[in-house]
Amino acid sequence: MKGIAAIGEVMIELAPLHPPTLRLGYAGDTYNTAIYLARHGVPVSYCTHLGQDRHSDAILAQLAHEQVNTQLISRHPIRLPGLYMINNLPDGEREFSYWRDQSAARLLFSEVQPPVGLFEHAMIYLSGITLAIISPEARAHLFEQLADYRARGGRVAFDSNYRPRLWPDQATAQNTTRQCLQLTDIALLTLDDEQLLWGEADEAISLARLRALGLTELVVKRGAKPALVSEQGGDWQPCPVVKVSNVIDTTAAGDSFNAGYLSARLMSANCATAVRTGALCAGAVIQHKGAIVDRDAYNTSHQD
Ligand code: ADP
Repeated sequence: MKGIAAIGEVMIELAPLHPPTLRLGYAGDTYNTAIYLARHGVPVSYCTHLGQDRHSDAILAQLAHEQVNTQLISRHPIRLPGLYMINNLPDGEREFSYWRDQSAARLLFSEVQPPVGLFEHAMIYLSGITLAIISPEARAHLFEQLADYRARGGRVAFDSNYRPRLWPDQATAQNTTRQCLQLTDIALLTLDDEQLLWGEADEAISLARLRALGLTELVVKRGAKPALVSEQGGDWQPCPVVKVSNVIDTTAAGDSFNAGYLSARLMSANCATAVRTGALCAGAVIQHKGAIVDRDAYNTSHQD
């Protein structure tokens, strides 16, 4: 078994340029991670469902350009990729508008069965967004297949990426996330998302709950604060992240962190070293606008 397969949704992104002019791009949490994994030389395939339209063509071209394998991507005859728009607010904050309810990716693992090659990868990477956009039946089916895949030696990496508006209710999100964590070898969670998902105001409560899960490998990202790692439910190990004085846009910070972390772990680095690699990647990405930073800017700014 070789390489990583990332599963999820990539969308058309419309970002403000010089209002009313918008800049067109393509992004999505697992998609961003797949691209940054490829930039680290990891053999990576992206698994999603696209349309037959020109934006789907452009997404496939971008993946190919980034050396991401596209053989796990199927295409719907009518449906299109989802779309989102970034809106700048007067106080420097941003909000997002989505048109994704009818996207082709929603049919993943229901109308579209998992491609055979998916379970031939050494690792499968998915997120809470991947789980939120597919049907409950598709989720149940995917979980069965992931259990089987792990029994055959496959490893699962998961980022819970909780986005409340994608779920019918909080309890469904909690149950699904809990189920997926039981099938996870490397959990890459963000403290903010955990607190939101479980309604926990106190960090100590979240950390105690997470450690008690006894996961093989658990990383908790906390923005500019040291990330925390617990192995086999052991004590938290604080791992400092690189200082970034010039934060421009934190979009895809967690996604790029995950790519750096997983690439280092696949090359047998220990968890603390992998956090350092993840933080260097994220540190580079947040100094530029957008989820996918130009290759040159990325290569220059993520070096030690
Ligand atoms: P998410 O993007 O999923 O919300 P975080 O905000 O925790 O996750 O960020 C993920 C990683 O990005 C952090 O662990 C850290 O390495 C890096 N990062 C995010 N914000 C900053 C910051 N202000 N300064 C330095 N590093 C940051």
